[in-house]
Amino acid sequence: MNLPTRLFVDGASRSAANGGRYPLTNPATEEVFTEVAAAGVADVDAAVMSAHHAWEAGWRDLAPGKRAEILFNVARTLRDHAEEIAQLETLHIGKPISDARDEAGLGAKVFEYYAGAVGKFCGQTIPVSRGGFDFTLRQPMGVVACIVPWNFPFPIACWKSAPALAAGNCVVLKPASLSPLTALRLGELACQAGLPAGVLQVLPGAGSVVGDALVTHPLVRKVSFTGSTEIGRRIMELAARDLKRVSLELGGKSPNIVFADADWPRAAATSPMSVFANTGQDCCARSRVFVERSIYEPFVEQFVAATKKLVVGDPAKNETQLGPLVSAGQRATVEAFLADARGRGSQFASGGGRPPAKGFYLEPTVLLGVGREDRCGREEIFGPVVVIAPFDDEAQMLRDVNASPYGLSGSIWTNNVSRALRVSRAVQSGVLSVNSHSSVHVEAPFGGFKQSGLGRDLGMAAMEGYTELKNVYVAE
Ligand code: NAD
Repeated sequence: MNLPTRLFVDGASRSAANGGRYPLTNPATEEVFTEVAAAGVADVDAAVMSAHHAWEAGWRDLAPGKRAEILFNVARTLRDHAEEIAQLETLHIGKPISDARDEAGLGAKVFEYYAGAVGKFCGQTIPVSRGGFDFTLRQPMGVVACIVPWNFPFPIACWKSAPALAAGNCVVLKPASLSPLTALRLGELACQAGLPAGVLQVLPGAGSVVGDALVTHPLVRKVSFTGSTEIGRRIMELAARDLKRVSLELGGKSPNIVFADADWPRAAATSPMSVFANTGQDCCARSRVFVERSIYEPFVEQFVAATKKLVVGDPAKNETQLGPLVSAGQRATVEAFLADARGRGSQFASGGGRPPAKGFYLEPTVLLGVGREDRCGREEIFGPVVVIAPFDDEAQMLRDVNASPYGLSGSIWTNNVSRALRVSRAVQSGVLSVNSHSSVHVEAPFGGFKQSGLGRDLGMAAMEGYTELKNVYVAE
């Protein structure tokens, strides 16, 4: 397989202006397998200028039908290359190949959805009180910087760039330094599918260099970021200087609430993958499970049994459910949380150690008896660790759920419709599922309350977020 290892700027691959490169390590083998160009500040400027010219030279004013046709072609081309994209994803971040295949398909579907949205995204006519004719336009912003994380590199790159492009913007995409390959391939394939040169650029490199330069570049009109709350906060501060538009999809500590009246054996059987999928490196991971006390013991027993059946191992194998963590550093971070839990006397109902294989693996870990103030109960771990606790009273449980500074996702398990509606209203988070763990739907808005973010990805809400709203009044 040919690896895309150079920057993608103005429709072509090129080296970094200063010749910088950095190594990529396969997390399943701990071996360096290639080097990738590391963009510097001069490359950021070149990419933003190229995007700006492409915008002014035509993408901004292209007939909607033509824009839609190109984006449909991108979707088709991505589908044709889905297996290659999946293999690249598994190689650089250790994602199990079956998940990587699903996510390659999801990326193509996102382009299809927004290609279709181009002709359905409208302004309004408004009956203003003084008479005359009043209407709104949704106008593109110009150059948009999309900064994405390493846990879902390809689908998030697609779900940021596709609506931005569909709304008539040009994009500079910055993948996380650990996961540049699928973003680079996206740039190449989109261009091959007919996206004009300069409309989508891809710049791998260090966040502190490329990210900062993008966020402070005067021609970047909007920054769409997915990543940690810490970096999101920094981006918002930097963007405030020029009042740049920002949307932020950040961390989470999502609850999974199981009532005794639910089909709780189904909840117990499915909940392990709601937190351990992607080896827990998932912003929507249901990492805090609240179980009504009357079913707590059998629930934990079944949860632990289901956890022990999970297949942890080589991400290249079809049957693998959990691969390694993305890096040695990420595993060390998660292990520091486990050390804290040990020190505070939490009970390890399952896991807690490293499997005896090479690679950055860690066993899926179930913690009981974690105190409200303990780090494992409060902070985003971003690894395969879950905390399960009983509750007696719905109102107190909701206070505990909402005490988190995060509010991204969550599940509610109950067969009582009134309770489902009441609790859905009460939980402070942007995305919830009842009797399911599904968080992401291409057609529906995705994003967080509180410190989990600002703005929404996906659905038509994302298109709105990549436009300025203009009102025009015409006197009669
Ligand atoms: P991160 O914040 O370290 O990095 C995210 C991106 O920001 C990367 O491309 C990185 O290179 C870049 N970056 C780093 N420093 C920067 C700076 N100073 N300026 C601009 N950009 C900079 O996050 P990560 O470790 O890649 O991803 C994990 C985090 O992402 C977790 O907190 C997770 O919850 C969150 N996440 C959120 C969502 C969501 O939709 N809410 C989805 C996936 C991941």
